[in-house]
Amino acid sequence: MASDQRPSTVGDQRDPSNAEPETALETARRQLSRAGSNLEIDDAIHERLRHPTAVHEVTVPLERDDGSVEVFTGYRAQHDSVRGPYKGGLRYHPAVTRDECVGLAMWMTWKCAVMDLPFGGAKGGIVVDPKSLSDDEKERLTRRFTQEMRRVIGPTRDIPAPDMGTDPQTMAWLMDAYSMQEDETIPGVVTGKPPAIGGSEGRERAPGRSVAIVTRETCAYYEYPLSETTVAIQGFGSVGANAARLLEEWGATVVAVSDVNGAVYDPEGLDVGAIPSHDEEPEAVTRYAEETDVARLSNADLLELDVDVLVPAAVGNVLTEDNADAVDADIVVEGANGPTTFAADAILEERGIEVIPDILANAGGVTVSYFEWLQDINRRRWSLEQVHEELESEMVTAWNAVREEVEQRDVTWRDGAYVVALSRIAEAHEIRGLWP
Ligand code: NAD
Repeated sequence: MASDQRPSTVGDQRDPSNAEPETALETARRQLSRAGSNLEIDDAIHERLRHPTAVHEVTVPLERDDGSVEVFTGYRAQHDSVRGPYKGGLRYHPAVTRDECVGLAMWMTWKCAVMDLPFGGAKGGIVVDPKSLSDDEKERLTRRFTQEMRRVIGPTRDIPAPDMGTDPQTMAWLMDAYSMQEDETIPGVVTGKPPAIGGSEGRERAPGRSVAIVTRETCAYYEYPLSETTVAIQGFGSVGANAARLLEEWGATVVAVSDVNGAVYDPEGLDVGAIPSHDEEPEAVTRYAEETDVARLSNADLLELDVDVLVPAAVGNVLTEDNADAVDADIVVEGANGPTTFAADAILEERGIEVIPDILANAGGVTVSYFEWLQDINRRRWSLEQVHEELESEMVTAWNAVREEVEQRDVTWRDGAYVVALSRIAEAHEIRGLWP
């Protein structure tokens, strides 16, 4: 994920003059409170879920290539493990903070629970600009961080995955460092590894695939035949490009896509297969526009197109109280994490625009991470076909669980997803009880 231009998943695109900015932790707590108001859950459980179980902070000394030594700070926030080991990304970014890790760890708890995966939520990171490191330095930093965190991670404790500034190679170093110290090969300590060392087929493309599946199910529910459905997608990376290609394959008309530099638009439908995705060629959407006579738009215009489905799949906080009134789509499917602010959410709800939340829509990533973990601990490899079949089944099951809450409680899709997640977590806490 080439997301290093983003300062923070939740804070991206934040305008300092905008009154809404809030930290990932504030967002996560507000979402918990709102979900709690839709459910009868014990006050003590609610209070426990407002806080992480633990936040591990370490210093990570790194010998630079020139022989000097620099010391970095690393975190691992572990929010809740009542349903299974902690699970969540590891990011290398200068804006990483303790609170951001806690907020994002809470988000992972809800995401795993809405998918009914036997995991809790975690998130970690090192406060470093990965672009300032050589490959050798990145490797040494990763290995030392792994050693510092060795006692709190592990295949039955806490399983990191790639995030901003980290990639499958980073996970390979982490797995190797951990395995060397434990004297055995333990692939299940991380997910998102290269397939040669126990990574899963289909992991990279899974979040985009889940966005496409959820879009397809939602369109069918609201009686939009895909063959008559128009879609605009912001961001043409791992999530956006894969969602665009699948939706096109399944018959939808993708009329607009964008990268950080702007959007292309053809009301008759783009040939999305002809546009390289961000990892195939960074910012190729703009080059495609230069080489063809397709119309160009700004990213802001894309969000206001008159389409059936809008998929913000680039960065957070792009739908705000400033533009929510201008959104002209009937359905918004959140491909990115946190693309809709709290205030925008209220406006979209009032306007009758359905918003399918990130914790459901892009959960294909953590779901295939779960498949990877299963393959690792069982020492058994799945084919790409099997991964796709299982992902399809998990996504449709989760989508249906949320739909039931939406229908029965007459709530938004976001509230429905939080109700599903929180009721599963609260039930597990109630049954396990408080020890001692
Ligand atoms: P990516 O780096 O592969 O692609 C990002 C795309 O967005 C690129 O086309 C880039 O040009 C574009 N972009 C960047 N900044 C932009 C901006 N300010 N305005 C418009 N476009 C911009 O990233 P990705 O992996 O596809 O992730 C996208 C979003 O999905 C992020 O919010 C990420 O947290 C979330 N997400 C990713 C995964 C995953 O496993 N890749 C899983 C779940 C959620």
